[in-house]
Amino acid sequence: MQDFDLVVVGAGAAGLTAALFAARHGLKVVVVERMGAGGQIAAAESIDNFPGFPSGIAGHELGPLLHEQAAAAGAELRLDTVEGIELAGADRIVRGVGDSWRARAVIVAAGSALRALGIPGEEQFRGRGVSHCASCDGPLFAGQDVCVIGGGDSALDEALVLANHAARITVFHRGARLRAQQALLDKAAATRKIELVLETSVEEILGKDAVSGVRLRAAGTGASRIQPVSGVFIYVGLEPNTAFVHGLLALDPAGHIETDMMMRTSVDGIFAAGDIRVSSVAQLAAAAGDGATAAITAFRYLQQRG
Ligand code: NAP
Repeated sequence: MQDFDLVVVGAGAAGLTAALFAARHGLKVVVVERMGAGGQIAAAESIDNFPGFPSGIAGHELGPLLHEQAAAAGAELRLDTVEGIELAGADRIVRGVGDSWRARAVIVAAGSALRALGIPGEEQFRGRGVSHCASCDGPLFAGQDVCVIGGGDSALDEALVLANHAARITVFHRGARLRAQQALLDKAAATRKIELVLETSVEEILGKDAVSGVRLRAAGTGASRIQPVSGVFIYVGLEPNTAFVHGLLALDPAGHIETDMMMRTSVDGIFAAGDIRVSSVAQLAAAAGDGATAAITAFRYLQQRG
């Protein structure tokens, strides 16, 4: 068991910003992360809406920079998977698979994971044509036809990444209106390789040893058809990584952590930041803002308790 003033769970933009602010306030801080610095952004080829980077920045560059800045302020990073948080009087004990950390305050900034679609073929062909990472797997589909499922920023962002590799990218969206921001819709429209197909659901991913196509259903007519593709990229929203705080913190029905404006959760001494919390707009800049707020609230909490 190691003792700190503050344990931050998650080294994405929210967690590393929280660690930076807390360390600069003089707190002894550890960030516990299961993968590496950056969280969700690690797979983002270019981030064009984080303030201060007018030409954009790759996620694999920004993550290490966020870490470097937090580490320079004194925050420590440990790689482990957090399995739970226990209350022991005024102490909060964060239990990982390999180690445990004790502190008077904890910030939960464990982020989200991409949601699965739950259609036949999705699991069967994972890694054999079904992917959740266009920047990692896009080059495998050079010159081939692929599709993206979803209508949000992720779907459009990743379709644009795929346009650097694939011959043709069809984006299938179940509704009549896309949620994606206008800047991404404009970029997609300027990319002749991308076709947006609305009011169409993907019902099954087809193939033998690898993906060969998708079975579609049109919302209006109910007509079914098959489109040949060799890759299927699924971006149908996010699930908060809150399994380890179930039963401890108040969550909404979708599993997001309830907080007030100062990032306090339902449990004293535990704060939450980033897209893991209720009402987050799930943007990088907002996650960083949440992290700063959570750190300052945690600092004041610790000061008040001596
Ligand atoms: P999202 O905004 O929640 O969009 C999910 C999309 O998937 C929606 O179009 C939704 O359709 C569709 N969908 C959900 N369930 C489905 C199902 N069962 N079958 C078919 N389609 C389904 O998720 P996201 O695009 O991953 O974005 C998550 C958050 O991250 C957002 O706040 C987004 O702004 C942010 N983000 C930002 C950027 C950026 O700034 N460049 C990049 C990526 C993500 P409906 O619209 O019909 O519900």
